[in-house]
Amino acid sequence: MRKNIIAGNWKMNKTASQASEFLHELSSRMGSKDEVVIFPPYLSVAAAVEALKGTKVRVGVQNMHFEDSGAFTGEVSADMILESGCEYVLIGHSERRKYFAETDETVNLKTKKALQKGLIPMVCVGEDLDEREKDLTFDVIGRQLEIGLSGIAPASVVIAYEPVWAIGTGRTATDEQAQEVCAFIRKTIAKMGFAADEISILYGGSVKGSNISSLMAMPDIDGALVGGAALTEDFINIINY
Ligand code: PEP
Repeated sequence: MRKNIIAGNWKMNKTASQASEFLHELSSRMGSKDEVVIFPPYLSVAAAVEALKGTKVRVGVQNMHFEDSGAFTGEVSADMILESGCEYVLIGHSERRKYFAETDETVNLKTKKALQKGLIPMVCVGEDLDEREKDLTFDVIGRQLEIGLSGIAPASVVIAYEPVWAIGTGRTATDEQAQEVCAFIRKTIAKMGFAADEISILYGGSVKGSNISSLMAMPDIDGALVGGAALTEDFINIINY
């Protein structure tokens, strides 16, 4: 179901005790009209779930394996994630693609597994600077969607558009640039058989308290995936845009 979602991707930040302290301090101010999701590192999930008990804030993980179990040293399965109290899983974040060989094919396998198990996949897509400058943005995003979401429609997924050149750089896409690509994503998934008007599409890339409101005013932007600012008090400003 399409709804506004504000999500915080902590990446490899905050130990369990730091997560607990941060969330105990902020959770009472995290009441929001929108869905709020926190993605801590695996080992801080239990502390986050505990700290957020009794609130409406959801917890997710930043990655998962597509197999149920087996000899996959260092990996985590959907069942483990569900049992830990998580409802969401980030799939295909650009840092996973860049540093850990995530491909559109593994994104597809992981998204299918997450849906089969009842987790909500938040699938990330986005072009890098070179691709944008060569005018390849729509080609890249189109391919990421067509392969990454192949055979999944009409299931309900969340999509995050994160231009790689805007992640952690302080350089936000303009509202119009973000809207243009989010509208393209909605059109593309409609052609793939998704009920596109029911799918939440988020923007991510240097979102802060100071730029969230105008992004949220765009018709095809249903929320934000926030990195750096989700680790600070500014996350409260983002939630309360
Ligand atoms: C991210 O990594 O998903 C992200 C959007 O990071 P930042 O907000 O720091 O650009």
